Amino acid sequence: MGDAVSPSQWRLLVLGVVAWSISPQAVFADESATVQTGATPGTARSIGSPNRGRLENGKKLEACETIHLIRKHRWGLPDLVGLIDRSAKRVADKYAGSVLVVGDLSQKAGGQIRGHGSHKTGRDADIGFYLLRGDKSFVASDFHIIDREGRAKGVKGVRFDTARNWALVESWLSDERATVLHIFVANHLRTRLLAEAQRVRAPAELIEKAAEAMVQPRPGARHDDHFHVRIRCPDGQSDCMNFPVRYTRIARPSPSKQKATKAQTGRAAKASKRPAAKIRPKRPK
Ligand SMILES: [Zn+2]
Repeated sequence: MGDAVSPSQWRLLVLGVVAWSISPQAVFADESATVQTGATPGTARSIGSPNRGRLENGKKLEACETIHLIRKHRWGLPDLVGLIDRSAKRVADKYAGSVLVVGDLSQKAGGQIRGHGSHKTGRDADIGFYLLRGDKSFVASDFHIIDREGRAKGVKGVRFDTARNWALVESWLSDERATVLHIFVANHLRTRLLAEAQRVRAPAELIEKAAEAMVQPRPGARHDDHFHVRIRCPDGQSDCMNFPVRYTRIARPSPSKQKATKAQTGRAAKASKRPAAKIRPKRPK
């Protein structure tokens, strides 16, 4: 009976068989999980709308000779990070010593950032204006409101550098990789920039594009101390939404109307059980 199996050997044998039978299933389970997500691992994705979304596999914007970062949220789609980087270099090539002041982009995984309605999907960035003190470049450590005469409030002798800011807008709108959807900026600065475009005889097509892209969103968000640039969703990302969504209240039917017909009563009852909110596309802010 030299072949007899001891109880401890039996235990090892049984454990081995169980382990062998479980591991192939575990591998299959992982594979099916990968297939279900439908995403190529590592692909940067903007999911949802600018004000209700998130970011996956974003890229971090780094400070460099031509970029000065003044806020802590520095993640975006590679197209956005590249756009900022390329435009800062192009303006610096044209106007030596230029440094672009950059505020918030998004958090690493996107989502809510205090003080911002959007910036949730890696497609939005706040960019400071190029400023001058005398005829020298002035690099601010924060955003400064620009008044109607082009002067920076709170910093003596500092003003909006129309020529360099137009060069920046021109670079954004001519970028070969990213497509700019909006540039939020106050009306008086938009007017100033479009006049500069005319003065330097920019191509009519570019001026038209700039007039369409630059917009002052609403009275409470004038954007008179920085640009807010938003890029389009990348091609092929069907779960990315170009425009913000908002909640709007649905008026509940009055009790008399609820009695009108049997069918209407049924619908009204269902409606009253639902949260009185609905997502609807809205003009961007
Ligand atoms: Zn912004």
